[in-house]
Amino acid sequence: MALRSINPADNQELAVYEEFTAEKIDQTIRLANEAHLAWREVSMGIRAYHLMKASSIMRRRTRQLALIMTQEMGKPIRESESEIEKCAWVCDYYAENAASFLAAEQIRTEASKSFIAFEPLGVILAVMPWNFPFWQVFRFAAPSLMAGNAAILKHASNVTGCALAIEEIFREAGFPEHLFRTIPVGSHAVESTIRHSLVRAVTLTGSTEAGKSVAAIAGSAIKKTVLELGGSDPYIILKDANIELAAEQCVKSRMINTGQSCIAAKRFIVVKEVADDFTEKVVDLMGNIHFGDPMDENTAIGPMARTDLRDELHDQVLRSIVSGAKCLMGGVLHKRVGAWYAPTLLTDVAEGMPAYSEELFGPVAVIIRAEDEEDAIRIANDTSFGLGAAVFSEDVTHAEDIAWRKLNAGCCFVNSFVRSDPRLPFGGVGESGYGRELALFGIREFVNIKTIYIQ
Ligand code: NAP
Repeated sequence: MALRSINPADNQELAVYEEFTAEKIDQTIRLANEAHLAWREVSMGIRAYHLMKASSIMRRRTRQLALIMTQEMGKPIRESESEIEKCAWVCDYYAENAASFLAAEQIRTEASKSFIAFEPLGVILAVMPWNFPFWQVFRFAAPSLMAGNAAILKHASNVTGCALAIEEIFREAGFPEHLFRTIPVGSHAVESTIRHSLVRAVTLTGSTEAGKSVAAIAGSAIKKTVLELGGSDPYIILKDANIELAAEQCVKSRMINTGQSCIAAKRFIVVKEVADDFTEKVVDLMGNIHFGDPMDENTAIGPMARTDLRDELHDQVLRSIVSGAKCLMGGVLHKRVGAWYAPTLLTDVAEGMPAYSEELFGPVAVIIRAEDEEDAIRIANDTSFGLGAAVFSEDVTHAEDIAWRKLNAGCCFVNSFVRSDPRLPFGGVGESGYGRELALFGIREFVNIKTIYIQ
């Protein structure tokens, strides 16, 4: 079987990759485990040296790496370049902080000495999505390798070029030959890979459906999982909000990566007093977005990553319109060959519509009117997801209270759009998954938290 990379801007085939056979996967895992056994003895200083090298390789080759991404999944080139810079940042961050995050912690007990050590687990399988094809991998790999683990990457089937480029970065940075390996395979190979006796844990970033399947398999084999799944992030706009700022941040968040971000603002929930003003500003901002060739430096929205995903999104939009949503902009399929979908704005969205309850993974903004603040909070929490959320209000103390105590989400921002940052833990609740990436919490997911007690 083969994996195909197709440029979504014109549907031209870029490359075809032979999938690894079961024997090749087994051999790759065994070699990774051997590499891990040697790597776990390597000092933190040397591990950090190689991670810094990976970051400098990325900074030196930003354009070349960004191009692979833009061609394989259509990300506007300017955003692809920023993504590579962010990967370099997370490498620098863990190179600088891993030693202190994993330093043994002394605990005072009746023993003559007792402490907690953080030991690597071994080979970790990473099942990753195409939407941030470098960032998703680096935010897992940088802490995991610093902790002494080995990594096997099963990337999304449409971004094998990115997966192989990442493997090459680690090799060139001087990491042991088999410590980080890509296995080009479709999702059919995930179950047997999880069940391999040398695979100790799994991290999956992707859809809730994939998360449920991976968690069930890993659970039956008693292997730890971290799941970073979908989201339907609510952005609440209160009547005392700076409407200009709120509209600008909402549109920015919704349209980043052509709307294909787990933490995009997927529901703009506006209290009725300011709904018209807010809608007007959103229409204005969305009308001015540069939609076109992802290779153009000025482009903010390019094609979606695949035509099947575009068709699925269009179906959700049409079903929402049939159920009563108003389409103020877009909402029609482009004649152009490729996965194009113009920025679309749905208003009057209400309970029972796909745009209210499902994740819309593309450039479609959704406005829901709320009666008042209480109603806005109720709507925000009326979801099976719980990844990010935001509140806009000039009363920052009050907004902080809503963010902290009233919203069910893994991260809540006030007067700003939600973003990931190596210094802050990232992850969700409910059907958005469990476990955390980034910061101290991310590096502690794939370690054995080991108690040592000396009488
Ligand atoms: P996806 O279809 O779930 O694919 C993600 C990865 O899982 C791919 O490598 C895919 O392999 C694999 N996969 C799919 N179905 C599987 C199954 N049943 N068993 C095992 N592996 C399976 O998701 P996507 O469409 O690529 O990505 C979009 C989704 O990811 C959205 O829901 C988005 O919100 C979420 N996401 C979440 C985060 C976060 O941090 N929370 C970040 C980014 C994206 P193939 O490509 O071979 O099918």
